[in-house]
Amino acid sequence: MIEFPETHVLANQIQRTLVGKKIVRVQADTYPHKFAWYSGDPQEYPAMLEGKTITSAGARGGFACGGTCVVILCEDALLIITTPIKYHRAGEKLPAKHQLLLKFDDASYMSCTVQMWGAMFCALAEDGRLPEDRAISPLSEAFDEAYFEKLRRSVAPGMSVKAFLATEQRIPGLGNGVLQDILWNAQLHPKRKMESITDAEMHALFESVRNTLQAMREQGGRDTEKDLFGHPGGYKTILSKLTLSCPCPRCGSLPIRQSFLGGNIYFCPGCQPNI
Ligand SMILES: [Zn+2]
Repeated sequence: MIEFPETHVLANQIQRTLVGKKIVRVQADTYPHKFAWYSGDPQEYPAMLEGKTITSAGARGGFACGGTCVVILCEDALLIITTPIKYHRAGEKLPAKHQLLLKFDDASYMSCTVQMWGAMFCALAEDGRLPEDRAISPLSEAFDEAYFEKLRRSVAPGMSVKAFLATEQRIPGLGNGVLQDILWNAQLHPKRKMESITDAEMHALFESVRNTLQAMREQGGRDTEKDLFGHPGGYKTILSKLTLSCPCPRCGSLPIRQSFLGGNIYFCPGCQPNI
């Protein structure tokens, strides 16, 4: 599953690189994956897509499983993708396994390979246009402090701040990856209970969700993830598998990694205490 910043980076790169390319061959489900999801029969994808030209691409929320996805318009067909996406120039090596592969008329390719789980839906495009968002994006105007407070009131008081932010797709595209720096910036421990969060901390958390996601998007995604061309993003993660041996830039403590709620959490014991 791709998260908010990388979804935007991929969509922008596809818009710049793939628009105008004609799809000449489609392979879907060639290497079956237990958690690869298609709409209908993937064997029908070639008939829906071959001969079509890519007309536009965008990042949207609320389509596949409520998260963020890359939407790619191919004339009257729409691809909705939540997996990492790679572009391969003519002659470049293709991935050993893929769950969706498009070949273009210039002999270049686009591939999708599922990590954990992922959707590659293909549908008819309504009105022949890219669809609108179906969920409130964390960087949209509608995502204001009143809305954030409404989200807080919708969850159980004993819920952890990690579960509040990064489960159920309450905030589309905010997953366990981007969560770590959001909580570091807000100086909140991932296990803090929502009922213990003060108004001032809630304000800091709101600011951090917006500012952190914006920085990650503007800097080309996180350095732990790859873009359309296989390059890591320009955003240097503060807390991730890459920084476990790096002292906290704020207080100098070494970060801690723990398993919590189906994924690793990273936090600084010095400035993110679990009070
Ligand atoms: Zn610290």
